[in-house]
Amino acid sequence: MISEIHRPHQPITEEKELSYAKALKCRECHRHYPKEALYVCEFCFGQLEVDYDYDAIKQVLTREEIQKRGRNIWRYRELLPVDNAPTVGLNAGFTPLVRANNLAKELGVKELYVKDDSVCHPTLSFKDRVVSVALSKAVELGFDTVSCASTGNLANSVSANGAAAGLQRYIFIPHDLESGKVLASLIYAPNLVAVNGNYDDVNRLCSEIANKYKWAFVNINIRPYYAEGSKSYGFEIIEQLGWKAPQHVVVPVASGSLLTKIWKAMHEFKKIGIIDDFDTKMYAAQPEGCSPVSTAIINDTEVIKPVKPKTIAKSLAIGNPADGFYAYEAVKASGGGAAIVTDEEVIEGIKLLARTEGIFAETAGGVTVASAKKLIEQGVIPRDESIVICITGNGLKTQEAVADRVGAPTHIQPNIQSFEELVLGK
Ligand SMILES: *Cc1c(COP(=O)(O)O)cnc(C)c1O
Ligand SMILES: [Zn+2]
Repeated sequence: MISEIHRPHQPITEEKELSYAKALKCRECHRHYPKEALYVCEFCFGQLEVDYDYDAIKQVLTREEIQKRGRNIWRYRELLPVDNAPTVGLNAGFTPLVRANNLAKELGVKELYVKDDSVCHPTLSFKDRVVSVALSKAVELGFDTVSCASTGNLANSVSANGAAAGLQRYIFIPHDLESGKVLASLIYAPNLVAVNGNYDDVNRLCSEIANKYKWAFVNINIRPYYAEGSKSYGFEIIEQLGWKAPQHVVVPVASGSLLTKIWKAMHEFKKIGIIDDFDTKMYAAQPEGCSPVSTAIINDTEVIKPVKPKTIAKSLAIGNPADGFYAYEAVKASGGGAAIVTDEEVIEGIKLLARTEGIFAETAGGVTVASAKKLIEQGVIPRDESIVICITGNGLKTQEAVADRVGAPTHIQPNIQSFEELVLGK
């Protein structure tokens, strides 16, 4: 049965329009489309992207104005595609940019920062940014049911933010996700569907379901809005560096959207005069068992060859990445590069970040740290320039990756002799 788009809460508001988003625009042929649940060009099948009125934004969005606002993604709201006051994810974003001196020393570099979305609100990954924008838009468009195809963190965020927004949720995941990621969706009581296949199978199924049921699939039919949320990660890096873009950014890649949007964020800040210029090189970080984008970059071929993923970094296990080509293009345009790391290096990367900076990242973070290490050792990233590494998710969700690699506590009897004998070795 095909359900109609339900529009129960069309916002009636006296507030002035917040959005400076003009329309959707095809990335390839530049045709315009209305701001609806559309994502692909009818003429050339290109991706649709949100188009803004940058001249108007330039008049209102200044450094001073931004600094007066709440510490969340909506401080950049003119550059996000929500027309009225946002209703979902009001506390997402504005995570710490940590000056990582201990890790810098270990890696032999001068100026290193960790952009730490392992503590993003409310589900401890950068997906809370994209979901806040997607669900605010879905509510605005009148949807009462939201859905997604997920490698884990997106499922968590749509489940949680959708619960808080009172939305019905159908969440689709591959059957073999980490138990922490499954539980961290189930707790919010969505309709959680585990599909017997990998992410690319889940995504294909969801595209079919999205054609039949008029739900807001955050990363399918409202993907143009969803994807814009990632820009906030880039805006924050620049603001937190004192309104300066870093020289190097290492980004974990799944669909390629985050990397593409950090790059877009820098261009937008330049376009509206928030920064004068930037000279930033972008680097894609992927695990050996799923590296279609990094492989294309390293081999210098713009054809992204789909793969069958097999890696412990399940949040990055997308074998046929929707934005793979655009991520490739951004890296090449920036003069950056890519790394591919083994599962063993991923585990060592997680442990290194925890040991040096006290930050427990998920497997995707291990990919980023190991990739940064490799790129520095290869001399691709110079040791005396500013480097930001993107930590996008929390290690408590992927405990099985390191469970047998962290040792065990020392067991003692409840007395001082036992303590001195077994702990101090006296
Ligand atoms: C989804 C995800 C990514 C990659 O996101 P894309 O925008 O699809 O490339 C990176 N890290 C974590 C932890 C994620 O969940
Ligand atoms: Zn087109």
